[in-house]
Amino acid sequence: MESGTIELLKESGKQGILLAELVQKMDQPESKILQIIDSLSKNGQIKKVTEKHDGKSTIRVIWQGNDESEWDTLEGCPCFICPDIDQCGASQPVSPWICEKLNNWIKDRLD
Ligand code: SF4
Repeated sequence: MESGTIELLKESGKQGILLAELVQKMDQPESKILQIIDSLSKNGQIKKVTEKHDGKSTIRVIWQGNDESEWDTLEGCPCFICPDIDQCGASQPVSPWICEKLNNWIKDRLD
């Protein structure tokens, strides 16, 4: 899902895309899209601009990544965009040993 989001953001160009439009095009819950956006924002790959649309406050997301370089996520490893990475590790509530996302990603690679 994250790679599809990145592609849409790249396609939206310098004008970016409204959150609602991104959610609609990705056909995913807003909460999941916001997780990806927050992760991309932490990595400095997007800019979030607050603006009014139809009288409501929303955010516009603008791709900032350098198109000349590729962001290598090792074929979509979830750790690269994980919103929980700051809390992930040994003796933490989440860890690579029990992480369903990471284990499913590994299983997909082995199939
Ligand atoms: S192991 Fe799971 S929780 Fe930890 S960073 Fe990777 S995807 Fe996130």
